[in-house]
Amino acid sequence: MPESAEVIVVGSGPGGATVARELARAGRRVLIVERGADHRGRWYHGTHLGALRYTERGGLLFTREGLQIVRPLMVGGATALYCASAALPPPWLKEQYDIDLEADASAAAEELGVAPLDEELRGEASTRIARAAQTVGQRWEPQPKFFRPERADRFRCGAHCMLGCRCGAKWSAAEYVDQAVEAGARLVTGTRIERVLVEGGRAKGVIGRRGRARFEARAEVVVLAAGGLGSPPILRRSGLEEAGRGLAMDTTVMVYGVAAGPGIGREPPMTWSWEDPRGRFMLSTLIDPWLLFPLMAFLAHPRHLLRWPRWGRMLGVMIKVRDQVSGSIGDDASITKPLTETDRKVLEEAGGLARSILLAAGAAPDTLFTTPLRGTHPSATVRIGEILDRNLATPISGLFVCDAGIFPEALGRPTVLTLIAFARRLARHL
Ligand SMILES: Cc1cc2nc3c(=O)[nH]c(=O)nc-3n(C[C@H](O)[C@H](O)[C@H](O)COP(=O)(O)OP(=O)(O)OC[C@H]3O[C@@H](n4cnc5c(N)ncnc54)[C@H](O)[C@@H]3O)c2cc1C
Repeated sequence: MPESAEVIVVGSGPGGATVARELARAGRRVLIVERGADHRGRWYHGTHLGALRYTERGGLLFTREGLQIVRPLMVGGATALYCASAALPPPWLKEQYDIDLEADASAAAEELGVAPLDEELRGEASTRIARAAQTVGQRWEPQPKFFRPERADRFRCGAHCMLGCRCGAKWSAAEYVDQAVEAGARLVTGTRIERVLVEGGRAKGVIGRRGRARFEARAEVVVLAAGGLGSPPILRRSGLEEAGRGLAMDTTVMVYGVAAGPGIGREPPMTWSWEDPRGRFMLSTLIDPWLLFPLMAFLAHPRHLLRWPRWGRMLGVMIKVRDQVSGSIGDDASITKPLTETDRKVLEEAGGLARSILLAAGAAPDTLFTTPLRGTHPSATVRIGEILDRNLATPISGLFVCDAGIFPEALGRPTVLTLIAFARRLARHL
């Protein structure tokens, strides 16, 4: 029997989970359809094996140019593995697009207790890197986080946030999914939506697959929140051909070096950061988890594999470039994301700064190396102003999008708080 609801939300990342929770609390009959499973509480959750299991292709998803994409598919979406960094929506959203998210972002930040970690929890090695940055004229700030250390044992879990939180300190969108369900929403997992059911120019529901079985659910309002990579194929199969033409990724590299004392691997991720005053890139403390490190080191150059045994003494600076929209998602799900000349120049400049900082923090010069490109913020694929209006409505009546694809440009900063704010605003509109 087909399911039915007033509102169907496809995807349970921060965009989908927030809109579902707000609408369920407002008394709407909401159905959340999620492709992945709920892995929380399973023995492998928060382990390296778990991370391989719930990321697409075990983390080995690459663009045609070789950029690695980390794409978690599970209840809570990418927040299951994110670093829990929070940043306010960029001012240009208001200045250039007349979208004011300030009140929604502040309300969400207050509700979730967003704040930097106390000084003693930021990590000694991470703090050493932040101090060293002053030698290149940068004043790094403690990064606001979606962490509640009081809910856990002060990160004695080993701070494996990027494998899935085991200690409970990290907020993830799965908590909003739970709250949506408490408020009456229904959650269907393991179900992959393929297209929107459109009748007479109006959205009437969704069609997909649940294992081998066909899945169909009907509703007058459909919110696609399947992520910057997930929503475009659904939109294209539903008649919106322009979705997924062009994307941003906040393209990232890590610069590593080995120092004498303990490294940052067992410290919470991204506790300090710095934003380029011209808004072109950000820098932060970060290192790959122990088992992912050798893959990235190998891809940089096989000789860097020799650094793996010294992971415990490794310092790392992450560079996130606010990249230009380029490339596309193909009909065969292949992804191209070439760097533009401007992106390349910014990356080079940021790389020079990162290396100077690591040297000033005590890294040995002959141990420095830079990982290949990767993307953890697939976005700007269903852009406001091009495919969507300011209320996130598509040209198909009753069909909305609320995930990182809606950004009109790369954010170049943590996305989640901005997405939650967008989703609260959409729920009010609906
Ligand atoms: C390792 C890592 C670290 C990060 N660190 C940070 C950080 O510190 N701070 C920050 O702000 N951001 C961070 N991010 C980015 C952030 O997590 C994402 O930008 C954000 O979660 C995107 O939200 P979304 O709602 O667009 O989609 P997602 O979170 O990707 O959720 C989409 C959901 O839709 C589901 N889905 C996909 N296709 C379908 C389909 N066809 N049918 C049904 N369901 C489907 C997926 O399984 C997924 O659950 C990080 C990301 C990664 C991978």
